[in-house]
Parts: sequence; C-alpha cells; structure tokens
Amino acid sequence: MKQRKKPVVSARALKALAEQAREVAENAYSPYSKFKVGSALLLSNGEVVTGANVENASYGLTICAERSALVSAVSQFGPEIRVSAVAVANLNDAPSPPCGACRQVLAEFVLPDAPIVFPSAHGERTMAFSELMPMAFDMKLK
Ligand code: ZN
Repeated sequence: MKQRKKPVVSARALKALAEQAREVAENAYSPYSKFKVGSALLLSNGEVVTGANVENASYGLTICAERSALVSAVSQFGPEIRVSAVAVANLNDAPSPPCGACRQVLAEFVLPDAPIVFPSAHGERTMAFSELMPMAFDMKLK
C-alpha cells in the first residue's frame, strides 16, 4: 500500500495564513496597478511574517508582496530561516501565485515541499513550491 505523505502544514494553518495575507494586502501601496497583494510566510520556527506590494512610479522598482515578506523575515530572524508555507492573496480575488522573480528569490529559503496557497474568487489553490519552481537558478555545483 502506498503511504500518503503527511502534509507539512495543516489545512487549518494554511487557511489562517491565507487570511493573514489578505489582511496585509490592505496595506499595499499600489496606486498604479490598483492590485493590492499581501503575502504571509510561515517560518519553520513557527513565526508568521507578512508583506505587501509596494509600487513605484518607476515601475521596475516595484516590490512584490512575497519579496517584501521575505526581506522582512530575514531582517527579523536572520539568514538561516526556512519557509514552511507561503500564502499570497489580493483584494481583486484573482488567483495570484508568486511571479517568476519572487519564485527565484523564495527558492533560497522555501522548503521544496512547502505548500503555496493562493485563494481567489474561484476557490483556494495549493501547490508544493517544487511544483511552482522546479528548477531554480543556483550557482552551486550539483
Ligand atoms: Zn513577485
């Protein structure tokens, strides 16, 4: 009989994380896109760190919610942190998995099996980080 892998994070914890992501989206600075995004990271030490997107008139300088949260997490807890789960929500209720840039940045901290949850008006979708980012850039020889 095939063994089912135990989920890394409970469904209840993921739902709470998604709610925290939605709440922090209210703090986003998005006068250009009007797309307010929030992200909540569950760290392996049990802490939750949130972030919101911060746009700029020079669009390329915009920081997504996920990187905002990650920078805050490293600033608060140091470079050894590991992320056990990620939630990304927006106030438009659109499904918003992390963009490519955020996936690359998250790859250095997020555990491969970590669930990434992104709720929308169509329901909540959850994928393992390794499904979202199967082959991150890495300078280490393998
Ligand atoms: Zn992004």
